[in-house]
Amino acid sequence: MKKIVVIFSFACMLFCMPSCNHSRSANKETTSYQSATDAELDEFISKIKAVDNHAHPNTINPDDKGSDALPLDGLGAIELPARVRPESQTWLDAANALYGFTGNELNEKAMKDLMDTEQNVMKNKGEKFPEWALDQAGIEVMFANRIFMGHGISSPRFRWVTYVDALLFPLSTKAEAAVTPDREKLFPLEDQLLKKYLSDLHISKLPATLDEYLKQVVTPTLEAQKKGGCVAVKFETAYLRSLDFEKVSIQSASDVYSQYVNGGEPSHEKYKLLQDFLFRYIAGEAGRLGMAVHIHSFPGAGNYFVAAGCDPLLLEPVFNDPELRHTKFVLIHGGGTFSKHTSAMLWKPNVYADISLLTQLWTPDQLATVLRDWLSQFPEKILFGTDAVSFGPGLGWEMSAWIASNTGRQALTIALSGMIRSNEITLSRAKEIATMVMRTNAGNLYKLGLP
Ligand SMILES: [Zn+2]
Repeated sequence: MKKIVVIFSFACMLFCMPSCNHSRSANKETTSYQSATDAELDEFISKIKAVDNHAHPNTINPDDKGSDALPLDGLGAIELPARVRPESQTWLDAANALYGFTGNELNEKAMKDLMDTEQNVMKNKGEKFPEWALDQAGIEVMFANRIFMGHGISSPRFRWVTYVDALLFPLSTKAEAAVTPDREKLFPLEDQLLKKYLSDLHISKLPATLDEYLKQVVTPTLEAQKKGGCVAVKFETAYLRSLDFEKVSIQSASDVYSQYVNGGEPSHEKYKLLQDFLFRYIAGEAGRLGMAVHIHSFPGAGNYFVAAGCDPLLLEPVFNDPELRHTKFVLIHGGGTFSKHTSAMLWKPNVYADISLLTQLWTPDQLATVLRDWLSQFPEKILFGTDAVSFGPGLGWEMSAWIASNTGRQALTIALSGMIRSNEITLSRAKEIATMVMRTNAGNLYKLGLP
């Protein structure tokens, strides 16, 4: 998910005292695990120091410019699922755990108090605030999907995941943007980011040929990101176009590039040839440089999001490209409601999926159903994630990280205890799988060198 500002309209009371260690929600949602084995597993999972595969942490600077390539604030009021709406119990639980809130609704006064408390805690902790937030959620390492890192968001607790969609669109994006009202607002942001990438390389004008664009812009940008500590590059292309990236010859792509690099509007069919070529080129380069490729695969957000274009099955030709088998692909948000298609893609040796965002939008029981399908087949391919993101002042990323961490752990407990009950696995294997999902799968995939 991306930055979303939720507007509140209520009144109330809040008492604020920063709490400390990661603790499970007092108002844990009703779950179906209760035996002694389940309790032992629950306890075990609650203590695993997690690696969060995907999140959007902020610095304590209110004007945190490096945080997001495509913030959704500009899209106006967008539909949100019930679990992340302001009235949801999950926010109360997080406010209680992080800031000692004891009321039973987040009305206007409560929100104001919560904002003040959040501000005070930030002021007190200064640049240690982001690390404090990780401690509350039991997260050891959080992958920060950001344009650039910032004060307090640095290695080893935070690792950088950059944005690379802008590199797909070197030509005019006017016609591409006209497809939906959302894209009209989002494409100019990609144009700006490409300008930033060019200016970082001290290039004032796009090179005349595709070959030069690859050698002077794309590869040097990726190399600089790798040098800057990047562990993965992220495509959120599904906000901008469909994920069906065909195999296109360099000649066809070059012809389109040369014809329009100095102006003019390429047809969608022609531009797609160039975009498809560039996607596969970037994926190949990321693999060569040892960076994974993250791909947003979830039907949202945005009132004009084209859900059919984010189906993981569309990526199968990319995953099956023998030239890209050195690149590790991660389906961010696990395909969402296309989770069965994600399950089918996990057969590919270089494809993984994370549960980020699902840990916020879905209940533990809903997520457990999907996890059980994936974990019974490919337990080494599934990664924990939060998609922690700010929903506005008072509902910062630290709150959504806490919610997602707790939901993910509860879902994992439900899925694994179900597998124990049906004699698929033992308790000790369940603990092993839980550790893999929460921590070691990511440690191995990104070679994090964790103990
Ligand atoms: Zn995200």
